[in-house]
Amino acid sequence: MTRILIVGGGIAGASLSAEIAPHADVILAEAEPAFGVHASGRSAAMFAPGYGNAVIRELNAASAEALGKAGVLSPRPILWLGRSDQRELFEAEVAESGMTPIPVAEALGLVPILNAARVAFAAIDTGSADIDTDRLLQSCLSRARRAGAKTLTGARVTGLTRTAGGWRAETTRGTFPADVVVNAAGAWADDVARMAGLAPLGLQPLRRSMARLPAPAGHDVRAWPMIHPAGGGWYAKPDAGKWLVSPAEEDPMPPMDAWPDDMTLAHGLARYEEMVTVPVTRVEASWAGLRTFAPDRTPVVGPDPADSAFFWLAGQGGYGFQTAPALARVAAARIAGVACDLPARVLRAMDPARFRQAAAPCAFP
Ligand SMILES: Cc1cc2nc3c(=O)[nH]c(=O)nc-3n(C[C@H](O)[C@H](O)[C@H](O)COP(=O)(O)OP(=O)(O)OC[C@H]3O[C@@H](n4cnc5c(N)ncnc54)[C@H](O)[C@@H]3O)c2cc1C
Repeated sequence: MTRILIVGGGIAGASLSAEIAPHADVILAEAEPAFGVHASGRSAAMFAPGYGNAVIRELNAASAEALGKAGVLSPRPILWLGRSDQRELFEAEVAESGMTPIPVAEALGLVPILNAARVAFAAIDTGSADIDTDRLLQSCLSRARRAGAKTLTGARVTGLTRTAGGWRAETTRGTFPADVVVNAAGAWADDVARMAGLAPLGLQPLRRSMARLPAPAGHDVRAWPMIHPAGGGWYAKPDAGKWLVSPAEEDPMPPMDAWPDDMTLAHGLARYEEMVTVPVTRVEASWAGLRTFAPDRTPVVGPDPADSAFFWLAGQGGYGFQTAPALARVAAARIAGVACDLPARVLRAMDPARFRQAAAPCAFP
């Protein structure tokens, strides 16, 4: 069986491990003492089928059934809000994502703290859901283990040396041979490519912060929708009876254990306060994570054009959970020849060769 070393135990590495373990010898190596510590432990946990570019939306649709079957989705509509000076922008965004316009009075009924003097337009997406991200991650890891995968924490990959048949991977938990190395290292994916002697793809980690507030004015927020303004600048959603607000920033950062910037958080909370009637009096907790994008904001899934034994599974941006099942199927198909239900057009859009003009075109199943 093909020996596969997957670098990175976030949702990307864990979901691929589950998908491919029945067909290969898999080692999943995570540097941290636990899985899902970085981006995968800090997300907004949304499944929003209308979110992202056309390729992402196709991946969302192709992931819905698996997420449903895994029992990790619970309905969480998204309420889109526009000010009176945003008519054109609001209408364009609503049309693009397929939301349904609703009267402002109905929006105020759903979220009673909205500022009636500021909200001029509203639309709703009822196909969205919360993802139980921890349950999804853990269920991927147990599926992988049941199929024989070794899942290692505290296993930082520190060296990748090319051998005649594949790779020798040095890690902080030992040295492992592999036929294929999968780069699922999130914000560190370009660094891992350099470690293997390959060129980086220009992946850019962008910081996004979150603040957890008490439920506004003591409301029971559990059934409220996520709320999002036209043009962005913040969003808010319920979280276990509390209220999360994000400034929705995209600040370029080096790969790191990210933390929130106080001023960014304060400005985001101020933008949120303009659209609601209850001021922010206390932030109970805050954190930040890195959403890592390829230059075209489409994931990078496929063999490196210079070395087919090095496979990229990176650049999931702000969609890594909602696209995880489809991305894992694509990666398993391309590495182990497992049948793939996604069209060649989508595979081509995600192929790393798109960033290397001189590279030979790759073949698709
Ligand atoms: C604030 C925020 C909100 C988000 N909201 C959503 C959302 O609502 N819906 C959605 O679908 N997505 C969302 N995302 C995006 C989603 O969280 C990411 O796309 C996804 O978690 C990326 O997973 P990953 O496994 O690629 O990366 P990570 O979870 O970062 O995992 C990469 C792992 O690689 C490990 N690693 C790196 N280098 C090495 C090495 N040398 N050796 C071993 N291990 C290594 C790291 O320690 C890390 O654990 C959000 C992200 C953020 C930050």
